[in-house]
Amino acid sequence: MINVTRTYLPSFEDYCKMIKPLWETRWLTNRGTFALELERKLKEKLELNHLLYVNNGMMALQIAMKALGIKGDVITTPFSYVATTGAILWEGCNPVFVDIEDQTYCIDADKIEAAITPETTAIIATHVFGFPCNIEKIQAIAEKNQLKVIYDGAHAFNTFYNGKSIFSYGDISICSFHATKLFHTVEGGAIICNNKELEEKVLLYHQFGHLYDDYKEMGVNAKVSELHAAMGLCVFPLIDEIIEKRKAVFELYKHELKGLNLKFPTPSSFEGYNYAYFPVVFDSKETVLKIKQSLQENEIFSRRYFYPSLNKLPYLKENQLCPVSETIAERVLCLPFYPELSEKEVGLITRIVKNGVVKS
Ligand SMILES: *Cc1c(COP(=O)(O)O)cnc(C)c1O
Repeated sequence: MINVTRTYLPSFEDYCKMIKPLWETRWLTNRGTFALELERKLKEKLELNHLLYVNNGMMALQIAMKALGIKGDVITTPFSYVATTGAILWEGCNPVFVDIEDQTYCIDADKIEAAITPETTAIIATHVFGFPCNIEKIQAIAEKNQLKVIYDGAHAFNTFYNGKSIFSYGDISICSFHATKLFHTVEGGAIICNNKELEEKVLLYHQFGHLYDDYKEMGVNAKVSELHAAMGLCVFPLIDEIIEKRKAVFELYKHELKGLNLKFPTPSSFEGYNYAYFPVVFDSKETVLKIKQSLQENEIFSRRYFYPSLNKLPYLKENQLCPVSETIAERVLCLPFYPELSEKEVGLITRIVKNGVVKS
């Protein structure tokens, strides 16, 4: 069986060795030494000043929205995981979908201004598959219209843009450290703020809104356990190796699928890609379903990611149209992609894909 992803694990012995001291200290959560150590290492690697490690990416989004006082209409992308829209709805805001670019599948910054209403307070955009949004343009629009910017960087771990971590852009960026993501702590995430004041706020919010006996504000619980942080500390030293291996698999796929009637997201050039996913866009929904089925018959599991286009979620109040996102969502398939995927396995997968595509 080949799954769409395969969580990278340290050796069992290394993990056990890491967590052994906990049986002495009995300090298992509430910003223990492992959580703080992981935060320190992440900040150092990504050269960031204000990063808080939290329990998952969706809570990171929700806390970010609260900390920035986001209300009313929020401009967002329809091509993302449901957590992006979900956080907006859960925080009582109204998602206003702006269609995506045909090349990067990120929000189309040229269409943002037309969607701004008197109630708009923020833009929440996703760096899709680890590719950067049009950061300069979004920043300019936000400044001109006094909007907050949150980047959902769940896919963008270790992505660099103009020589800086992509998480250093916007008012707040978030990341996910879920087991299916590039870097993981089983469940986990991070909130990266652009100033100290915001960082203090999100720290407070993530631990019920209090510091010891001082109950300052409302909060939630987004704390992390030492068992999760220990997993992160075990995976952390392997990151560069993981990305190198992913790059090799990525290039193999690209080579095998050359010259077919397929589309791949093509980001504007930037250094520091992280090889987070291997998405392929086919000519039609029928082709996708046929190939997904053929793969499945060989015990190979791909994923329609992202599908559906989020403007089509059945629980939304109004029907907003995003034709580009809708057509990409119908036709996209993420092929199995992880560091240990062998040449033989890539060969098998690409043979099935080749057999299924309509000849151009
Ligand atoms: C995975 C993901 C999330 C949610 O992260 P969790 O850690 O699973 O809560 C949010 N946005 C995007 C784009 C994602 O891919």
